[in-house]
Amino acid sequence: MKKFFRWLGLGLVVLIAVQAYKTWQYAPDTVAVAQIELPQVDETLVAARMGEAIRFQTISTGEPDAVRSADFQGFLDWLVATYPFANKVMSRQLIAGLTPLYRWQGSDDSLKPILLTAHYDVVPVAASGLSDWQQKPFSGAVADGFIWGRGALDDKSAVVAIMEAVEAMSAAGFTPKRTIYLSFGHDEEIGGADGAGGVAAYFKAQNIQMAWSLDEGSMILRDVISGLGQDVASINVAEKGYVTLDITASAEGGHSSLPPRDTAVSKLAKAITKLQAKPVPGGLTGASKDFFDALGPYFSLEKRVLFANQWLYRPVLESVLSGSNATDAMLRSTKAPTMLQGSNKENVLPQTAVATVNFRIHPRDSIQSLIAHTKALIDDPEIKVEIRGGWGNEPSRVSDRNGEGFKMLATTFRQVFGDLIVVPGLTVAGTDSVHYETISDDSYRINPFVFTGEDIKRLHGRNERISVQAMAQAVQFYQVLIGNAAQ
Ligand SMILES: [Zn+2]
Repeated sequence: MKKFFRWLGLGLVVLIAVQAYKTWQYAPDTVAVAQIELPQVDETLVAARMGEAIRFQTISTGEPDAVRSADFQGFLDWLVATYPFANKVMSRQLIAGLTPLYRWQGSDDSLKPILLTAHYDVVPVAASGLSDWQQKPFSGAVADGFIWGRGALDDKSAVVAIMEAVEAMSAAGFTPKRTIYLSFGHDEEIGGADGAGGVAAYFKAQNIQMAWSLDEGSMILRDVISGLGQDVASINVAEKGYVTLDITASAEGGHSSLPPRDTAVSKLAKAITKLQAKPVPGGLTGASKDFFDALGPYFSLEKRVLFANQWLYRPVLESVLSGSNATDAMLRSTKAPTMLQGSNKENVLPQTAVATVNFRIHPRDSIQSLIAHTKALIDDPEIKVEIRGGWGNEPSRVSDRNGEGFKMLATTFRQVFGDLIVVPGLTVAGTDSVHYETISDDSYRINPFVFTGEDIKRLHGRNERISVQAMAQAVQFYQVLIGNAAQ
């Protein structure tokens, strides 16, 4: 017995020593970037122009004719009038009439071009919450150090920052070696099929392939991930796919005074309960693992021990991460029942009851694998599972996090924003890169704006705004990026 305890003691010492060693080894990469002098930006001027851009009510409603409103045309004319040098050095064509595709010809045709992109359409403002806005949503007011209004974060700010950068550089006589394309979508908020989809079709027809593209899809996160003392630039290398399933239960109709044991509604309720009982399998593999592996070394010691010793703590770590909606969405495909439909009268038995479930598809899954997951959990051949509207987007490819484009972006972030953590991430919503990835070797998704948790709530929400400082830094970022990429 004594011997047993001696061995046990020795075993524990070895276990602790291995963990301590692995934790000690698990240190952040030290990345030194050459310090550069950042370009000067006139904050007041940029803020005023951003305000002007917001005043065009370029709202995507999904209604066929509303898109042709004067505001869309007005915004395009404004881009031409406001950025004369940029419009002189670049050629422009309009895709689908409303998405400008700019080309800044490089001097060296042997270099593959790159694409910088953003969208200028915005989501509508809910009439119910109007009085909660501190500034009117299309006022473009500059107040308290912020520029206010719809599109301030998503995504007119990126359009304006990119154009400001090109304007400043072209006015100073800069010419790129590498050809740079700029594309500003007019219909991203409703899928981007005409705008970004049209741009991708144009490039395909011309046989033009990008080395890489940069789009929205993430930001510089400040105080968003708890336990980190530094800002995080999550350069997203992939985005989730999208599909919605209609789940239908059927039964005999009739009068509700003589009901059967189960109605279509109660059958459906059981099916949804079974579907919701288990999450889609996921965990720390693939794109999820890359994100947390890159982030892990920066956590405080007690968390770092877990990340450094995933051979031992992976189940613990996965259960901690699935405890929060935000990190759970990084680990797996998600499912959200969003709509219900039964009989249209309280005393009529429904012949069918339908639940609509929206899925966001992790790169390890597919539309078909999620249909199989759904059918397996419901396990009832009488319940029908169909793709709503007959369409869905498969998850994107996972772009190279060791590629030239990623490295260049990482360097640029460090040059402009100083000491921050750069990680390869996953966009959990959809972006125009769904289209652009078809004509780019690699697609990266991040806007160079500092975001706090509070800002994220303003996306598509009330009191959308961007700080004047964040806007100016974004202009610097695109200038440095173009300088780095164009050599
Ligand atoms: Zn957007």
